[in-house]
Amino acid sequence: MTAIEDPVQIANLVVVEDLVKEFPVRAGGLFRRATLTAVNHISLTVARGETIGLVGESGSGKSTVANIVAGLLPRTSGKVVVNGVDFSTLRARQLREERRHVQVVFQDPYTSLAPTSTVESSVMEPLQAHNVGSKVERRARVDELLIKAQLDPAYKSRFPSEMSGGQRQRVGIARALALEPQLLVLDEPVSALDVSTKAEIINLLADLKDDLGLSYLFISHDLSTLRVLADRVAVMYLGEIVEQGSSDAIYDAPKHPYTKALLGSVPVPDPVVQRNRERIVLEGDIPSPLAVPSGCSFHTRCPEAMPRCSVDKPEATVVDGTTVACHLFPPSAT
Ligand code: SF4
Repeated sequence: MTAIEDPVQIANLVVVEDLVKEFPVRAGGLFRRATLTAVNHISLTVARGETIGLVGESGSGKSTVANIVAGLLPRTSGKVVVNGVDFSTLRARQLREERRHVQVVFQDPYTSLAPTSTVESSVMEPLQAHNVGSKVERRARVDELLIKAQLDPAYKSRFPSEMSGGQRQRVGIARALALEPQLLVLDEPVSALDVSTKAEIINLLADLKDDLGLSYLFISHDLSTLRVLADRVAVMYLGEIVEQGSSDAIYDAPKHPYTKALLGSVPVPDPVVQRNRERIVLEGDIPSPLAVPSGCSFHTRCPEAMPRCSVDKPEATVVDGTTVACHLFPPSAT
């Protein structure tokens, strides 16, 4: 491996440049094939110690980005560099070694943990796979990891079916921390949990980030979940990033109509404010990535759409530090 010279790569733990992911799919007839573009030329960075929220409805492509960054899925084109290393250039053994720096916490720990393995076996598995420590040291390390995830080590003889959703997610987090990663890819880690457990897990993730100096790529369909943790937010629609900026800018002064609509779906605790606030309500479902609308792909659902929106694709431009792709913010206006 060569020394990193690119200043962007030195400053950032993750650099995603012009990433494209296409999937060949069947299109009706037996021999007809089509290409589904799940991720369409996106770029983003994650600085060391930073949390980036990647938000969008189901089908926006955010989990595909997560899987590529985690080295679980090959890209079609573009670049993904983690800690100065482009996974696509590595041989299988090197890839296995480098991937330990990036671990994933999945949405549903019930399906990501083997049902026939005890908590101890599940958390120990990555340590065994990477030959970390002796048997005795690995056992002690499992206790340490469970304590870090705020779970009593007495739970280590239990099976996933004997635990609550929150306890299982703590096991998933302990397992993800086993190899001392630098980046956790959090793929909807709290969306299957009830409100109070969700808050507990978010607080746990915030504490772990501070204690261990971790970076997070946090995938969510819901902007309210990201509010506490995210330093920056990127909003995805049909495989593209339509708005990207600091958390404060996205929550306090959203620009893209889609971001406004996502924020509008977040309930406000005060019933008077909730009743009186202006909201964009999204009509219909996100279109199929196999039939992306022309021009601005959001034009079929956008309440502010103009005639040119169905013809011209908006260019991304920077407005007050936020990058936005919408004809309401033409490049000449900056
Ligand atoms: Fe709406 Fe047009 Fe902006 Fe797209 S470009 S978000 S359709 S106003």
